[in-house]
Amino acid sequence: MDFSKIKWQTATIQHIQQCILNQSLRHVILFIGENETANLLANATANALLCDKKGVNMCGSCPSCIKLKANSHPDKILIEKRKNKVSFGVEEVRDMIAKMYIKPFSANKKIFIFSDASLLTPAAQNALLKVIEEPPAYGMLILCADKEEDLLPTVLSRIPHKFKLSAPTTEEIQHFLSVKYPEKKQICGFCAVFSQGNPLLAEELLLKDGAIDQRKRLCLFLDKLCGSEKSCIFNFCGYLKENADDFAEITGYLLTIIQDILFIKQKIPRLANTDLLPELQSLAQKWSVSALTSMVDGFTELSAALTKSANFEGAVLNFLLEIWEALHDRNRWYQI
Ligand SMILES: [Zn+2]
Repeated sequence: MDFSKIKWQTATIQHIQQCILNQSLRHVILFIGENETANLLANATANALLCDKKGVNMCGSCPSCIKLKANSHPDKILIEKRKNKVSFGVEEVRDMIAKMYIKPFSANKKIFIFSDASLLTPAAQNALLKVIEEPPAYGMLILCADKEEDLLPTVLSRIPHKFKLSAPTTEEIQHFLSVKYPEKKQICGFCAVFSQGNPLLAEELLLKDGAIDQRKRLCLFLDKLCGSEKSCIFNFCGYLKENADDFAEITGYLLTIIQDILFIKQKIPRLANTDLLPELQSLAQKWSVSALTSMVDGFTELSAALTKSANFEGAVLNFLLEIWEALHDRNRWYQI
């Protein structure tokens, strides 16, 4: 884990790397914000500090980095919540402090990362004050917390480095993805919107082959649904059945496509599937607002039904047949 994996946190990374360069990083760091990002930053910081090359980012190839990549570096200790426990108690903190007073095995630092410091009980935080105030010279503590208020004022006031992580905007996520994956630039915008502000999710989606094909297939299905052949409904149900594990994703894609068609009809420039503009414009000519709204409502209800393990296939089939009937009855409310 190095800083390049979290490039959207530019300001925080620059600040930390400057401190590493100046050797001004002190013994306690707190990252406040979304837990996964906070943990990525905590790990990237610890890795840079433990790398033998002593640069501002882990080199990835020295003996220390090889151990860090295998999660087996003896001087980096990750303190995660134990299964079935809802908090970190005093005992766990005392255990950690005892380990901190054992000298580092191979590095000149011994770094402890609390993956979720929001779960530290007040008593545990009071116990932690001992190492926050008087750590051994090589000792370092990195805390990740959801909110500042999760920590006691006495603890907060003694932490020298506090970083509040801001959630990136859709544009920032899109930029981060398109710089990292220029060959996939075409769908970076979609992944950024679809992930709703979570860059890690957006990257995962981008790397998953199939998002382009699946969305094109959905556009084709919406197009065929306006035609006279009912067979497209059975084919589509078969496709959903074959891809049952991806149902939530496919439904999500379908909803963004329908939402985009509605935006085009209402002339709102806020499309998620910008790479599918010609397909969307053609669909906007064929679908009415009321039919699109019914599709959204229907699929939202079906997604809820799926979690209750109802006869899902039957429910989808019935719903689509109803839509088809309505679409083909020009006197009804689906009229364009
Ligand atoms: Zn290294």
